[in-house]
Amino acid sequence: MKRLLEWQIATVTSIHQETPRAKTFTLQLPNWMEHKAGQHYDVRLTAPDGYQAQRSYSIASEPERSGEIDLTVERIQDGEVSTYMHDVLIVGDQIEVRGPIGGYFVWEAAMTDPVLLIAGGSGVVPLMAMIRHRAAAGSKTPARLLYSSRTPQDVIYSAELDRLQGSQNGLGIFLTYTRRQPTGWSGFARRIDVPMLREVAGPLGNSTQAYVCGPTRMVEAVADGLLQIGLPPNQIRTERFGPTGGI
Ligand SMILES: Cc1cc2nc3c(=O)[nH]c(=O)nc-3n(C[C@H](O)[C@H](O)[C@H](O)COP(=O)(O)OP(=O)(O)OC[C@H]3O[C@@H](n4cnc5c(N)ncnc54)[C@H](O)[C@@H]3O)c2cc1C
Repeated sequence: MKRLLEWQIATVTSIHQETPRAKTFTLQLPNWMEHKAGQHYDVRLTAPDGYQAQRSYSIASEPERSGEIDLTVERIQDGEVSTYMHDVLIVGDQIEVRGPIGGYFVWEAAMTDPVLLIAGGSGVVPLMAMIRHRAAAGSKTPARLLYSSRTPQDVIYSAELDRLQGSQNGLGIFLTYTRRQPTGWSGFARRIDVPMLREVAGPLGNSTQAYVCGPTRMVEAVADGLLQIGLPPNQIRTERFGPTGGI
């Protein structure tokens, strides 16, 4: 039987500035339920006059962490909910949420096929939950993250990604910077394209499971590119965050 998702009142227990445009909110949940990496929560705001706005935010934290979740939110200029969360919400505030939601864009450590994670901007959030889950579960499944950002300052979870890659547990991280690169950068410096996908995905082999998340146009272009390099459609999962393609 399908479980009815109830709204619950979460308490903000910490706020961490990840990049100039992204903050992570730790929410303590009275009715915490173990999620699957890749799922999201809905956040609902209610104004004093009763007006409500609701948006989805992916869970950034791993399911092994109980009682609380992290949401990482990018501030969208003129956005209704993301600006409220960035500019108004403070530690100790309460906020209405429901979840975890979603059953298709998920990865579990019990899945042993090689994993290709492809992110544009804040699309890295649900993929980070997968990477954290992989680490927490001690999985040795080969995994690669291809992450497109505008500039080095826009890379969310940068230090943690460096650390996880350095731990040599079969996780490969490939960054591409579309607008500005670090001095001396010799890596990718363009939007994700077919040769880049071939280079990053090739060594993972034919049974690779791909997860693509980011702005709508980026996700569509990448999914199309994955088909072009020969990945079957049933091995490509996508999650679209919003209308723009400004990565
Ligand atoms: C399943 C799912 C998971 C998501 N997870 C995350 C997450 O982990 N982190 C996160 O930051 N966002 C995530 N999003 C996007 C999020 O739900 C909101 O769409 C986003 O925060 C904008 O909401 P807003 O109220 O601030 O802007 P709105 O008031 O809805 O929009 C303001 C303006 O910004 C444009 N816009 C809306 N969304 C975006 C966007 N994503 N990128 C660029 N422009 C946009 C609109 O077209 C409009 O012009 C997710 C979306 C989905 C569907």
